[in-house]
Amino acid sequence: MEFSLETRKKDLGTLAGRYFDVLIIGGGIAGAGVASILAANGLDVILVDRADFASGTSSNSSKLIHGGIRYLGQGHVMVTMDLLRERNYLMKNTDFVKGIDFDILIDDRSWRRYTIAAGLLFYNLLGRNYSIPRFHKGKYSYPGFKGHYTYMDAVTDDAQLVIYNVITAKMLGAMTLNYVAAEKIIKENGMNRVTLRDTMFGGEYSVKCKVIVNSTGPWVGETYAKYSGKDMNGFKLSKGSHLIMKKDHFPFGNAVAFKSHIDGRQMFVIPRNETVIIGTTDDFVTSPDSLKVTDEEKDYIYESVKRLFPALDRSDIIGTYVGIRPLYGKGNDPGRVTRDFHIDVTGKMVSVMGVKITNYRTASRKVAATVGKVLGRKMRTSDLPQILYRRREEGDRIDLAINEECALTVEDILKRRLGYFYFKADQGKGIRDEITKRIKAKVDNLNKTNVI
Ligand SMILES: Cc1cc2nc3c(=O)[nH]c(=O)nc-3n(C[C@H](O)[C@H](O)[C@H](O)COP(=O)(O)OP(=O)(O)OC[C@H]3O[C@@H](n4cnc5c(N)ncnc54)[C@H](O)[C@@H]3O)c2cc1C
Repeated sequence: MEFSLETRKKDLGTLAGRYFDVLIIGGGIAGAGVASILAANGLDVILVDRADFASGTSSNSSKLIHGGIRYLGQGHVMVTMDLLRERNYLMKNTDFVKGIDFDILIDDRSWRRYTIAAGLLFYNLLGRNYSIPRFHKGKYSYPGFKGHYTYMDAVTDDAQLVIYNVITAKMLGAMTLNYVAAEKIIKENGMNRVTLRDTMFGGEYSVKCKVIVNSTGPWVGETYAKYSGKDMNGFKLSKGSHLIMKKDHFPFGNAVAFKSHIDGRQMFVIPRNETVIIGTTDDFVTSPDSLKVTDEEKDYIYESVKRLFPALDRSDIIGTYVGIRPLYGKGNDPGRVTRDFHIDVTGKMVSVMGVKITNYRTASRKVAATVGKVLGRKMRTSDLPQILYRRREEGDRIDLAINEECALTVEDILKRRLGYFYFKADQGKGIRDEITKRIKAKVDNLNKTNVI
């Protein structure tokens, strides 16, 4: 199916004055999952993102599909159970959610060895994995640690999961537009009139909709205030920075979960294709746009991991990235604010926050059912959302991204279609010029032909 600059232009050409049952603002994992359920229910749905799909937190996570052994330690058994069920579903039903062995390291800062063993046993049982955790002492030498247990979780390409859900929603009849911002929202005769702006080429469109889903992640508070004129109480932002490092000085294939010797915080070392991702920090911030990794954060992550892998050198760092957690809950310690999602209904706006990549299906079902209540319609949610889209094996990957996955910029391709920024040692620098050339040709062609 074509999904490109041309189809985007055609869709924009039909927008002015149009009515939709539901406008979804925000094309991260939360918006993409809901769009596909609502479209499967036959609703007239439009999903917009003011930048690329998945360009917010949903391409900047640690890229784990996991039950969160830490949440179990905090007593959130139901959250972990749901996450593990979803992990198993995604491993079975996609080819880009893959199991990975984690070594969980034990030192004086860890819980006691037998507490960890009991926790892992419970974690495995909840995840329907019946293996007994065994303590490895000195099998690998992680300096400063007494040994480790090994358990299984999974990794993914978070952006790919979002793109697949967006395209599924499109296949089911939703209009899905990247680089379109929702700006003014005006309540009018029991409906919403919303101004949409094309942030790539310019142009404004006024559309009407009955219900708005506010899935703007870190910007949920901002979008909520546009609608209600009020603050979203309980909404919090926490910044998580990562390093992307060369694989050269990581001798073991397993991922590692450990506590930093600097402050005892939980961290991960996650080997991916040609790189290793290391994260993450967890600090409250007030702005959703706090997207720079500071030198202090870089030093903290680097020093924490160097203790485990002494051969590391600063020149092994090839990149950094930040994700902002949109959380809802109480507490002054970001690490202890619940990682469960929250849904707010204010008038005809349904806002969702705290959705993890792992449990997006559970959250999407609940959001869709809530939208159904606001619309006065019963929603089918039980076997949804499904992922109907599969990237074709044959064909040039850059052309596929441009013509079938609506990539409009070089970054869209390197970060959110091919994942090279995160998973390749040169971060895709070698094909930048080629991508630029093909995108330029596409835009020139669009300007020559009057597609609408
Ligand atoms: C550091 C870190 C690590 C994490 N690791 C994991 C992990 O390993 N596993 C896991 O399951 N979860 C993880 N998470 C959690 C998960 O990544 C996030 O909770 C999730 O991605 C949030 O998705 P979202 O759709 O709510 O928000 P986002 O992905 O941020 O999407 C919101 C979108 O809204 C758009 N938008 C904003 N305003 C407007 C507007 N006015 N008009 C149109 N569009 C707009 C933005 O451009 C953005 O694309 C992690 C989070 C962080 C921060």
